[in-house]
Amino acid sequence: MRRLNPRQEEAVKYIDSPLLVLAGAGSGKTSVITQKIAYLIKTCGLKAKHVVAVTFTNKAAREMKERVGQLVSGKEARGLTVSTFHNLGLNIIRREHKTLGYKPGFSIFDDQDVKALIKELGEKYYSEGMDKIDLIQHTISNWKNDLITTDQAISHAKDEETEVIATIYQHYVRTLKAYNAVDFDDLILLPVKLFSENPTVLDKWQNKIRYLLVDEYQDTNASQYLLVKQLVGTRAAFTVVGDDDQSIYAWRGARPENLALLKDDYPTLNVIKLEQNYRSTSRILKAANTVIANNPHVFEKRLWSDFGMGDEIRVVRCRNEEVEAERVAAEIITHKLKHETKFKDYAILYRGNHQAKLLELKLQHHQIPYFISGGTSFFSRSEVKDIMAYLRLIINPDDDNAFLRVINVPRREIGPTTLEKLGNYASQRHISLFAACNEFGLSTHLDERFLEKLQRFTHWMQKITQQCHQEDPVTAIKDMVHDLDYQNWLRQNSSSDSVADKRMSNVWTLVESLEKSLKVADEEDDVETDIKTAIGKLVLRDMLERQEQEDDSDRVQLMTLHASKGLEYPYVFMIGMEEDLLPHRSSIEENNIEEERRLTYVGITRARKALTMTLAGQRKQFGEQIETTPSRFLEELPIEDVIRIGFGEEVSQEIKQATGKDALASIRNRINK
Ligand code: ATP
Ligand code: MG
Repeated sequence: MRRLNPRQEEAVKYIDSPLLVLAGAGSGKTSVITQKIAYLIKTCGLKAKHVVAVTFTNKAAREMKERVGQLVSGKEARGLTVSTFHNLGLNIIRREHKTLGYKPGFSIFDDQDVKALIKELGEKYYSEGMDKIDLIQHTISNWKNDLITTDQAISHAKDEETEVIATIYQHYVRTLKAYNAVDFDDLILLPVKLFSENPTVLDKWQNKIRYLLVDEYQDTNASQYLLVKQLVGTRAAFTVVGDDDQSIYAWRGARPENLALLKDDYPTLNVIKLEQNYRSTSRILKAANTVIANNPHVFEKRLWSDFGMGDEIRVVRCRNEEVEAERVAAEIITHKLKHETKFKDYAILYRGNHQAKLLELKLQHHQIPYFISGGTSFFSRSEVKDIMAYLRLIINPDDDNAFLRVINVPRREIGPTTLEKLGNYASQRHISLFAACNEFGLSTHLDERFLEKLQRFTHWMQKITQQCHQEDPVTAIKDMVHDLDYQNWLRQNSSSDSVADKRMSNVWTLVESLEKSLKVADEEDDVETDIKTAIGKLVLRDMLERQEQEDDSDRVQLMTLHASKGLEYPYVFMIGMEEDLLPHRSSIEENNIEEERRLTYVGITRARKALTMTLAGQRKQFGEQIETTPSRFLEELPIEDVIRIGFGEEVSQEIKQATGKDALASIRNRINK
């Protein structure tokens, strides 16, 4: 119980009834969860396999596991589940796939797969091109998160467009099932459905999970809320922690009202509030508090810190986005030299991924090592996607998207007409493309020459699959890559041999990570993971880690404000503090400023020692330099704690020339006057 204040300690030890810890940023909510896991195991004598902690991101789950590892021995922690909501859902589906009507080795469709499927299904309804894919995908996802069935979507549709989307939704659900595949939202939705229809299965899971802990509870959506409710049952042994001011996933169906709803669902709910912040200086906290005070509040919260006032918040206005990026890079270099810090002490946060481009150039120019979370992820590289598709076919031959991705990679000279005929036959017969290749009936539709090519492929895949199950799967997969002569294919399709070699090494990294996950004993059963599970986990990691990747080396961290949730850095830069960027234009149009303000609050509260906000006076848009307007949130900062730089050209000139502290102080004085 080292390093816990009395309120935190109370939260850790309280197990008499459901508990909600409602507190602002940096007050130790995540710390409470970690310590409580240790307390339940070590002091209450609960077996680790009966404790489940849920967080929102892989990174957070990893960090939590690490922190628990420092408090509890490896032996004691055996069987403990610390995972994301989606991983927990995947575990449930894996174990209950039969009851749910799925075959083992079901596929998980990623964003691109889903888009491809929607495009295919939607073309019937949108004759003039399909520029609606995003809208359809988003609407379907929202329906799923709100537990709206296809029938309900169809019968409640109020206009023609919604009617069409609802029909596509119905086809989409059926097709996924036929492919033996699930999408990201299904990972929560399917367990919820299963539990509501099958009390025996629910009973089993309720017995397994004797204590449930949830971090970042404000971002649960309707289906996640219900999943928690089902799992804790009437025993209601749970602790959830959250901060309504940090709810930033409304666009994914998150409902901060879930915090208030808890009191109705659990009348014995105990609420503990934490008020001391252990992260930031008082000035940073004050800035966060004054900004968020502009939002209406359901819960009264206070937040203070005894880390001293600290430095003023710096708001730096630069001529244009290029100067802005240059300035941030230059400031990091000088600050680092002066204070002997590490690169990883700095984080640069922005509203949208596209803002990272210029920064990257400038950081490279100054030879500053950096890491982008959610940038071009390992898993979105085409060579990795190719091999992943082969792996997906191994565990689920009915995965048509994977089939289509690899059928001509490397070249097998199977043309579009052949594929079209194959597709028609498969859909008439309601079977997958792979299965269709092996049906006798196909020979009446296809020339023998083409049929033979298809069958050569499927027979070869079947051989590899068999090898995976009978022999060492990793050797089988390595053999497969060699057999494909994939290296040669890369050489023919890369700009240079060295690029091809680099791409090939990514393939081996993927195989290695599969090997690693095969070696990790299954968290719950303590048995060796099988190939299906290992690949399934890789696919899920792939999806989650597009948002976040691990990196412990000494590099400046670049990420979106969304991705920064729960994290902390000594020195934080928030760039692009302009109207249309933060708040984002779409939110301004939809009058959803409150969510953008929460996002700003999340950004500010990541900083421990110093916070710098930057903006560009002009920014390129559609090839033109546009005058920007400073973000409205800058005006909400407490004026007495802010230094404004660059708002008058003569001042910025002086700053450039200023070297000593006195000169800076005199400029400050002038600005303040
Ligand atoms: P967020 O809302 O951003 O997720 P949080 O409430 O989860 O924040 P933590 O990340 O748990 O807060 O804690 C913030 C920082 O404060 C961490 O560095 C943590 O180690 C530290 N901390 C938490 N409690 C204490 C304490 N009692 N004494 C000293 N440091 C503490
Ligand atoms: Mg936290």
